[in-house]
Amino acid sequence: MIRLHVPDPLAAGARVALGADQARYLLTVMRQAVGAEVLLFNGRDGEWRTRLTEAGKRGAALEPLERTRPQDAGPDLDLLIALVKRTRLETIVEKAAELGARRVRLVITRRTQADHTNAARLQAIATEAAEQTGRLDVPQVLAPERLDRLLDRWEEGRALVFCDEAGDAPPMLDAVRPNGQPAAILIGPEGGFDPAERDQLRAQPFAIPVSLGPRILRADTAAISALTIWQAAAGDWRSASGLS
Ligand code: SAH
Repeated sequence: MIRLHVPDPLAAGARVALGADQARYLLTVMRQAVGAEVLLFNGRDGEWRTRLTEAGKRGAALEPLERTRPQDAGPDLDLLIALVKRTRLETIVEKAAELGARRVRLVITRRTQADHTNAARLQAIATEAAEQTGRLDVPQVLAPERLDRLLDRWEEGRALVFCDEAGDAPPMLDAVRPNGQPAAILIGPEGGFDPAERDQLRAQPFAIPVSLGPRILRADTAAISALTIWQAAAGDWRSASGLS
């Protein structure tokens, strides 16, 4: 069944009018007609089975019928990714959504090539991946921030798993504990971290330097690998329940 994220409140009897893009997708691309059923979620009210009640030139509207899944949030895990090349960054955002990252924070470091990106496009990719992967929320893609500033304002109580390609850090699997602590994973740019950055990161009490093995991984491989290890060792890949 088609599954869409909407901003609107979801409750029995409410009327959810779709924006032009989603209406076009539903009516023209997917050729749905009045009476068709669609799953909607908004990140707050769980997932609802809804029926298409209006379909025409003026757009589309749906009526929530029943809640199919209660709202649930996945683990509090952020991905901090240095601004790598666009297509690779788009892959990383999509995989981060599938692998349950709650937020994707874009990071400017000394060796990043760009200092800006198309955040709206990345957010659309995150939303589409969340719809496909069965999440009940959409990861927020945050605007690029300098690493210094991120560290200066680091959130109390959140661990920073620093993927350090220098090779002398402990294996990530040994460093990650299922302790329920909010966490963030940091992946550097194609050029890696420069020595001053590495020292600055290692000096932070909340930083946990980890190795992702003896080979140098590209940023997308590293992001996918680190998110996978974290979810398997400390995240929701053990939960008996279904999707969350
Ligand atoms: N140009 C660098 C590699 C950068 S790879 C070099 O050749 O040394 C991009 C990012 O992926 C790195 O900054 C790091 O965060 C992560 N990464 C890649 N391989 C890794 C490994 N074996 N262990 C830990 N992190 C790794």
